Amino acid sequence: MIRRLSEATVNRIAAGEVVERPASAVKELVENALDAGARAVDVMVEGGGLGLIRVADDGHGIAPQDLALAVERHATSKLKRSETGEDDLTFIDTMGFRGEALPSIGAVARLTIVSRTIGDSSAHSIAVTGGQLGAVGPAPFPHLARSGTIVEVRDLFFATPARLKFMKTERAEAMAITEIIRRLAMARSDVAFSLIQDGRKVLQVPSNAGQLFAHGQDRIARLLGEDISANTLPVEAARETVMLRGYAGLPAISRGQATHQYLFVNGRPVRDRWFTGALRAAYADVLARDRHPVAVLFLTLPPHEVDVNVHPAKTEVRFRDPALIRGLIVGAVRSVLASSGPKPVTTMAATALRGLSDSASPFGFEPLRFGRQIAQASGAGDDPVPAAVAFLDAQPQGRNPSVAGMESGRPASLPAPAAADFPLGVARGQLHGTYIVAETADGMVIVDQHAAHERLVYERMKASLSTTGISRQTLLIPEIVELDPPSVERLVARADEFAKLGLLIDSFGSDAVAVREVPSMLRHLDIKGLIHDLADDLSEQGDTGALTERLHAVCASMACHGSVRAGRGLSLDEMNALLRDMEATPNSGQCNHGRPTFVALKRAEIERLFGRK
Ligand code: ADP
Ligand code: MG
Repeated sequence: MIRRLSEATVNRIAAGEVVERPASAVKELVENALDAGARAVDVMVEGGGLGLIRVADDGHGIAPQDLALAVERHATSKLKRSETGEDDLTFIDTMGFRGEALPSIGAVARLTIVSRTIGDSSAHSIAVTGGQLGAVGPAPFPHLARSGTIVEVRDLFFATPARLKFMKTERAEAMAITEIIRRLAMARSDVAFSLIQDGRKVLQVPSNAGQLFAHGQDRIARLLGEDISANTLPVEAARETVMLRGYAGLPAISRGQATHQYLFVNGRPVRDRWFTGALRAAYADVLARDRHPVAVLFLTLPPHEVDVNVHPAKTEVRFRDPALIRGLIVGAVRSVLASSGPKPVTTMAATALRGLSDSASPFGFEPLRFGRQIAQASGAGDDPVPAAVAFLDAQPQGRNPSVAGMESGRPASLPAPAAADFPLGVARGQLHGTYIVAETADGMVIVDQHAAHERLVYERMKASLSTTGISRQTLLIPEIVELDPPSVERLVARADEFAKLGLLIDSFGSDAVAVREVPSMLRHLDIKGLIHDLADDLSEQGDTGALTERLHAVCASMACHGSVRAGRGLSLDEMNALLRDMEATPNSGQCNHGRPTFVALKRAEIERLFGRK
């Protein structure tokens, strides 16, 4: 026997997808506030959202006669009607449109809505408890704003004990809620947000609406921290009707996990695997495979070119032209990374400063203490003098590098260039046979000579790969690699392209290819594995990334072995040549493993160190 389910059951089933956990309820409520034109959204949460969620906004409110509809399933004020009177799902410019959130929450929790519109003399409220609808009536409006809505959700999932059992710890839920608010706050820097969890203010950002030079970066600094925001490069690009802007993190602030990757599509926070993949491709050259870049990117495109109706939680979208979007992101990010020139990582400087100021006395620093620490670190006990001697002995040239250039009374044998002429300044000396210290117009930089040189060699090898081509090596006996016929076809169709990269293949029957020549750089590599990877690449993305990637990987490891080691003494001329090379080379701000090749200390920071400021 087939029977219709009750409204309450239907809502509970829908709630399973729409409000999977407290953070999803918070997301739905804040999105409603934003859709209502709120300028300020205040969120209060207790017990990881399972006790209480309260979202107050100063939006346009809900009229008393609409309150019952607001909590009814599939009722919404947001879908536009086309001329023929049909609901238009192709043009969605609001966060919500499914009319599912409030009824879903009402079905599994105790929900109260108090709302007031500009036109009404008093506020009205409605309550829904585990799907049971209460009456609409006048209510006090505990809000400073003239209009707005306060939604309270208590005892989330009390009506679905099974779901309640699957909740993570309160702490985990609280963190997920903070993350949701952070994403929404990043999407809308024109709106003020606050979040109080168990009485503690965990997030507060003012609105930057109306500011003449408002841009998202100060919001990002507040939400992700100065350390991150100061180490990003602005991205701006457009293709056809799609606009991209935002910030790409320097490789040096990469993460072990893809947690700091934020994508917004028409102001909607979106989480999708392809985005992580696109960023990986954009950073492939400057980041080790297991590191994840930091990025905050906003895509703007006409609503009919993107489908947001993919999942009840609306965190995934489909693009009409996904290849265009991916290409835009990869291309734009890659080019800002390559063209930025050397940009120093300042996090290190900030960390160093913090570390130093921690040990500072209220009157400044205690040089004695430092002296002792250095001496102890080098195993020389309490007396700093032997440590200094040991330091001198360790120098390859047996002389103090800090005076190396000053013997002739000026820093270099050539006429000394002014520090202001070069972004990376003028070399003043070498420390520990490893670090180059240079004076810049507004401070100093310390360069890790090995990391920097490795990057230069790598970039040079890559450049020569693309200009003079690749030397090939003929195999004495062609290697036969068996594959499925479609893969063989795909590979053979691209044979010309492979040949340019040094790989000569042709078909060997319908289900194998014969490999006749390989790039000499790759002659020790597992050829079968390479061919299989190439076939996979072609079937997945239609490009030949695997081969280029491997060639680059080989370049990288050759560069690592072929560049100046730490510990080799350099003359000032050699040091300056290295600095000039770095300035002229793309991506020279980090080594092939994504570590910075140099750090900068501004003069003001040095002055702070000495308590001069
Ligand atoms: P949707 O957002 O998809 O329309 P919801 O169930 O979230 O569905 O909300 C239903 C309706 O209630 C919305 O279309 C809107 O008209 C109204 N509403 C909900 N929250 C608010 C709010 N904070 N301010 C004004 N109106 C609201
Ligand atoms: Mg909604």
